[in-house]
Amino acid sequence: MSEERSLNFLEEIIEKDLADGKYKSIVTRFPPEPNGYLHMGHATSICLNFGLTKKYPGYTNLRFDDTNPVTEDIEYVENIKNDIKWLGFEWKNEHYASDYFETLYDYAIALIKKGLAYVDDLSSEEIAQLKGTPTEPGKDSPFRNRSVEENLDLFERMKQGEFADGARTLRAKIDMAHPNMLMRDPLLYRIKHAHHHRTGDTWCIYPMYDFAHGQSDSIEHITHSICTLEFVPHRELYDWLIEKLEIYPSHQYEFARRNLSYTVMSKRKLLQLVTDKYVNGWDDPRMPTISGMRRRGFTAASIRNFCETIGVAKRENIVDFSLLEFHLREDLNKTALRAMAVLDPVKLVITNYTGGSEDLQSENGPDEAYGHRTIPFSKELWIEREDFMEVPAKKWFRLAPGAMVRLKSAYIVRCDHFIKDENGILIEIQCTYFPESKSGQDTSGLHVKGTIHWVSAAHAAIAEVRLYDRLFKVEDPSGEEGDFKDYINPNSLQVINAFIEPSLLLASPEKRYQFLRKGYFCLDPDSTEKKLVFNRTVTLKDAWAKEVKK
Ligand code: ATP
Ligand code: MG
Repeated sequence: MSEERSLNFLEEIIEKDLADGKYKSIVTRFPPEPNGYLHMGHATSICLNFGLTKKYPGYTNLRFDDTNPVTEDIEYVENIKNDIKWLGFEWKNEHYASDYFETLYDYAIALIKKGLAYVDDLSSEEIAQLKGTPTEPGKDSPFRNRSVEENLDLFERMKQGEFADGARTLRAKIDMAHPNMLMRDPLLYRIKHAHHHRTGDTWCIYPMYDFAHGQSDSIEHITHSICTLEFVPHRELYDWLIEKLEIYPSHQYEFARRNLSYTVMSKRKLLQLVTDKYVNGWDDPRMPTISGMRRRGFTAASIRNFCETIGVAKRENIVDFSLLEFHLREDLNKTALRAMAVLDPVKLVITNYTGGSEDLQSENGPDEAYGHRTIPFSKELWIEREDFMEVPAKKWFRLAPGAMVRLKSAYIVRCDHFIKDENGILIEIQCTYFPESKSGQDTSGLHVKGTIHWVSAAHAAIAEVRLYDRLFKVEDPSGEEGDFKDYINPNSLQVINAFIEPSLLLASPEKRYQFLRKGYFCLDPDSTEKKLVFNRTVTLKDAWAKEVKK
């Protein structure tokens, strides 16, 4: 698929740049702010930036955009690195925008000396008042025409910590009547007496995004700096600063932010879900974070394939979550190990089975290469309650009074009786089995249409199984009236106990399993030696698609 699709607009630009000899190789970067865990939106940006330098000569840097001292945390840094590696990408250099604070300070001095920046004493409210509107020009600050010497002196004293937070700022001197509001003397530095997770208390002035991002790109000789559409109006300032500072000309390109249906993708909102305990942490399997999806059982390949399919767009839209699940099922179907588990059990007794128990063989995976595993069979089994119908519907090929079914990898059985308790709840199904119908060596001559899964009652282990549904009830919780949290699905997690075949006691966290007919599952890190916990990653079929058709 990837080979056949046409080039996206970024690939077209890069191919032209390479063909024209503008660059011999390209450099991109992924620039997360370490103020939360990465989500699926970041995954698209990672796949895009790293994907381009896999396809074309060049490399990608990881740069922590850590210019805001108050929201950042080392925990986030480690998790971000872990997530990128798990997705299957390697960065060339690991950088921190804070490593450039000294250089950025020198750049600011250079602008002041050129008469292109000044220290302003106005408060942020006053600055906003003088800014004008898109249709009306702004007004000059009374401090706009300070001499270079005065500006150098004041900026130095800002750095030395002489002034309180917000008392002064450094602004670029561009044009207060500029049609682009961002060009009306934008802020370059603000005073913030705050501890920074890397630079400690060295600085009490911090560069604004616009004075850090493009300059960091330039320092690293980034050729194609790819960001999301909200930065389109910033491009003019990005170019202005590079031109005036006479530094390496990086170029900014914008693509549309990616959103997924039935979830939210903003670190700020995801943080609220965590702190208000709607979910159990950033890596809750219902979260659209990379760590949550990994824990849920998503594979890195399925996320990469999804990102490749949706490509890059110039206009924002919401991508259907089921497209991601489609790629997930495609991958898991090819790779997941097979096992049997009964989620809603009812007892099946084989009245004519005389042996104690026997070992049967069942396919371990999607094809021969995976080999077989041993499963114990005995007189009493657990089967799924939904596989029996007292009064069978039309085309019912599973168990019903007098009906026959094959037990997966075992024998054909016929239902003779069933027993209900005093409340009318089915508690036992009694069957006869046909010893000559053993899977793989069936000489019985019997033909049945249905095959059901089972677990030997004497050998079964009990596991906790967590079944997930969408975290939100509506497609676009952020686009609805009121608070996005009003649209949380109260039934997004269902916890049950299931009977699992004994081979699953050796399940390992990296492995993915298909519980036959029940979906794809993986071991959750909450598992202990006493109690295994499995997450359902996804059902075998798209239940939501069916609902829509009904
Ligand atoms: P959030 O609003 O969730 O905090 P952000 O854009 O502020 O997102 P950053 O850490 O600053 O998060 O982003 C790192 C990179 O990931 C940026 O290049 C940003 O454009 C990109 N990115 C973030 N969210 C998305 C998204 N939904 N779709 C595509 N790219 C995204
Ligand atoms: Mg941000």
